[in-house]
Amino acid sequence: MVLGGAGFLGSHLVERLLADGAESVIAVDNLVTGNLKNLEGLKRDARFDLLQHDVCLPLNLEGPIDYVFNLASPASPKDFETLWLEIMRVGSLGTQHALELAERKTAVMLQASTSEIYGDPLVHPQVETYFGNVDSTGPRAVYDEAKRYGEALVQAFRRRRGVSTRIVRIFNTYGPRMRLDDGRVIPQLVGQALRGEDFTLYGDGSQTRSFCYVDDLIEGIVRLALSDQLDPVNIGNPREQTIRELAEAVKQAMGAPGELVYRPLPAGDPKQRKPDITRAKTLLGWEPKVSLEVGLPRTIEFFRTGLPLP
Ligand code: NAD
Ligand code: UDP
Repeated sequence: MVLGGAGFLGSHLVERLLADGAESVIAVDNLVTGNLKNLEGLKRDARFDLLQHDVCLPLNLEGPIDYVFNLASPASPKDFETLWLEIMRVGSLGTQHALELAERKTAVMLQASTSEIYGDPLVHPQVETYFGNVDSTGPRAVYDEAKRYGEALVQAFRRRRGVSTRIVRIFNTYGPRMRLDDGRVIPQLVGQALRGEDFTLYGDGSQTRSFCYVDDLIEGIVRLALSDQLDPVNIGNPREQTIRELAEAVKQAMGAPGELVYRPLPAGDPKQRKPDITRAKTLLGWEPKVSLEVGLPRTIEFFRTGLPLP
């Protein structure tokens, strides 16, 4: 079962589980940021089902479930302003319902956490043992603290109720099926290039991120689910770059005429982010394979045509 299965990452995970030969996969989604189009290719697969449901309400389902993947949550900083209550509710109540379902079904529960739990990190690159530098009242707090609460709840259900849990800390991931109006930096820059507009850089563009292609991320999630690793694991691509470098790469890849223009840096925007993936490498045998030079053109093609490059 994939909660948030109609979203960007969730729909890729559903597809991957079916491709791996799962007997049945149920996506649960209330479509707040997801899109039925993401699952269109699966409509004819008899092993697939979609349940339109808000996971903030209890989930009662017949039949056995082996894995509950909890990916349900709006995730773009743009959503932190408009969907703040939805984010806090799904991160708390939604996660509790996912855990209670896993408990009833004796299923493994995998929680999608985030690099945001490290806040504006002072330890670089970020190791899983770092507790983070998080502003509990700033504009990002609705997301960061909901995800931190989610991790605490997952660990409590494991310790007190014996639920088998996994926690993946996902770093910036991109690829086909992101929304063009999502606000996250790659769709935003590609959208600007497609419309022939200038590229907006927040601050001076010297802040860094490390971008992971969606297929690599999904591989890491599947490996973690199948492992017996109970502590959080970072999954992300450790290649770090400035946002200015990223904008230049998009501009060049698309032959776009726009200039780089500078806008105020939003409050709380982390200055640097890069995963330490030693744990994923040693415990899961995982590392990313798709470089930005390969993943970016596939993503651009999706935004141009609705389809990724083969
Ligand atoms: P997304 O918005 O595309 O997917 C989230 C899905 O959850 C959507 O389909 C949405 O409709 C659904 N959803 C939200 N609230 C729900 C509710 N109450 N009930 C049922 N469904 C609900 O975002 P995404 O990028 O695919 O993110 C998926 C997960 O991964 C999120 O938990 C996010 O926090 C986490 N994550 C993503 C990234 C990234 O770079 N993409 C980074 C870190 C963490
Ligand atoms: N950003 C930018 N221009 C944009 C959109 C985003 O410079 O049009 C920056 C943003 O300020 C942040 C980085 O790109 O420093 C990544 O932003 P995103 O919203 O994708 O994710 P974040 O890692 O901040 O959650």
